[in-house]
Amino acid sequence: MAKMMMLIDPSRCTGCRGCQVACKQWNGNVATKTTFTGTYQNPPDFDGDTFTLVRFKEYPVGAFGVYWLMTNDKCRHCAEPTCVEAMPKDGYVIHESGAVVYTDKAKAVLKDVVDSCPFAIPTLNKKSGLLAKCTLCADRTAEGMEPACAKTCPTDAILWGEQETMMKYAKERIAWLKTKNGDRFKADKIKLYPDEGFGCHVRWILLDDYAKHGLVGEM
Ligand code: SF4
Ligand code: SF4
Ligand code: SF4
Repeated sequence: MAKMMMLIDPSRCTGCRGCQVACKQWNGNVATKTTFTGTYQNPPDFDGDTFTLVRFKEYPVGAFGVYWLMTNDKCRHCAEPTCVEAMPKDGYVIHESGAVVYTDKAKAVLKDVVDSCPFAIPTLNKKSGLLAKCTLCADRTAEGMEPACAKTCPTDAILWGEQETMMKYAKERIAWLKTKNGDRFKADKIKLYPDEGFGCHVRWILLDDYAKHGLVGEM
């Protein structure tokens, strides 16, 4: 199998959260009970039953306008994942697609694993006691299907394909977005994240600073 990549394009995101629901449905994860706290970001963060979520950010534009940034977030599926350094060898599997997937042997080293991910991704599933995060739908992609979140997204804000094809598309899309310079698309801020220097299998087309998208952690 060729190396694969997921490309997340917040410029296409409507905030429908179909990706969250599809992920829960495919993985058999229950809904997380929450209360409204003044943001549509719900649940507030990853948890043992939430492997992906849409981060909602709202910024003022002009006198009365509002600028929305809605960004699907999940594990980056790093080519050299620091999270597994604290695990026994049978605590994880790296699939042909590049997906980093934990096994039930990762349980014993929970805190070390959580602390060693620079993007604050792994969480604990309280019911099973196991480490939880996005699997890049390794079970689906091994059968030739695309990840559930990408299949569900109605606007192609989540795309899945061979790495080379995705990178080519990302560059073309970034060039086009930069021509739309304005309140929403700031040409000098639009970029691929992580950049090509960082090996991973999930990337974003950022429209603004990383933190303004509500994304957590550092490279
Ligand atoms: S983003 Fe974090 S949890 Fe995901 S593979 Fe990289 S180090 Fe591991
Ligand atoms: S790739 Fe699969 S496991 Fe990961 S967020 Fe999408 S649906 Fe969930
Ligand atoms: S399904 Fe697509 S459009 Fe809807 S919130 Fe998720 S990424 Fe955005």
